[in-house]
Parts: sequence; structure tokens; C-alpha cells
Amino acid sequence: MPIDPTLPYDDNNIFARILRGEIPSTPVYEDEWAFAFEDINPQSPVHTLVIPKGKYVSWDDFSAKASAEEIAGFIRAVGHVAREKGLVEPGYRLLAKIGAHGGQEVPHLHVHILGGQFIGPMVMAR
Ligand code: AMP
Repeated sequence: MPIDPTLPYDDNNIFARILRGEIPSTPVYEDEWAFAFEDINPQSPVHTLVIPKGKYVSWDDFSAKASAEEIAGFIRAVGHVAREKGLVEPGYRLLAKIGAHGGQEVPHLHVHILGGQFIGPMVMAR
């Protein structure tokens, strides 16, 4: 079920629990600002999620409220993970869903890194 973007941050969302180590994940990268782990239901040969360590519901929340350091750290982490995965050539896709129309299901900002094959059309066929 897509989230309601008007709700406040839920400390018990599944990615918050992964960050606290309460739920296992397959870690890929971690630094002061971000944590990356493998998607449990991969949609392409590489499907890695990158989340900020701060409590942000979505890209909207993050871009409005995060500090310049948090934003820089998070964006650098996404690029770093993609490079470490060897995706820069021949390319990859980043995806961030925001709210109901975006189809976001987990209410902690996450960027999907998808690669390892051509990812296909940008959006669902109309
Ligand atoms: P979204 O639809 O953008 O909110 O994506 C949520 C993503 O989280 C989906 O691709 C799920 O497969 C993934 N996911 C859900 N639970 C877990 C988990 N415990 N570990 C790793 N990925 C998860």
C-alpha cells in the first residue's frame, strides 16, 4: 500500500528498524550519512537501496528539511555505491518514489539503484 505522505515519520518503519539493526539486511555501504543494502525483492540484476541515516519520510521531506551536509553526504553515497557496483558504464537508473502517486511503500526516503541490464520504459504504459 502506498504511504500517506502527510503522516509524520514513523520510527518503526522497516527501514528505521534495519538502520537500528533490529531487522537483518545485506549491507553494501555505510558512512556517517547513508546506509546502502540489497533490495529484498530485486527487480534487476543489481537492485540496491540507499537511505539517509536521518529520519526523513521521503525525497520531499529530505529536500525541504535536511542540512546541506546531509544532502551532500547522501547524494555522494548514492554515486559511490553505483560506482562500486561497476554501473557507470553502461549506465544505471535511480528511482525515488514519493507518496501515493509515486507508489512509495516504505516511509523512509530511499533511492533505488537499478542496473546490470537495460531497465526498460520510464513509466508504466498508459
Ligand atoms: P518503494 O516502493 O519505493 O517504497 O520500495 C520499497 C522497497 O523496499 C521494495 O523494492 C522492497 O522490495 C524493499 N524492501 C522491503 N522490505 C525490505 C527489507 N526488509 N530488506 C530489503 N528491502 C526491502
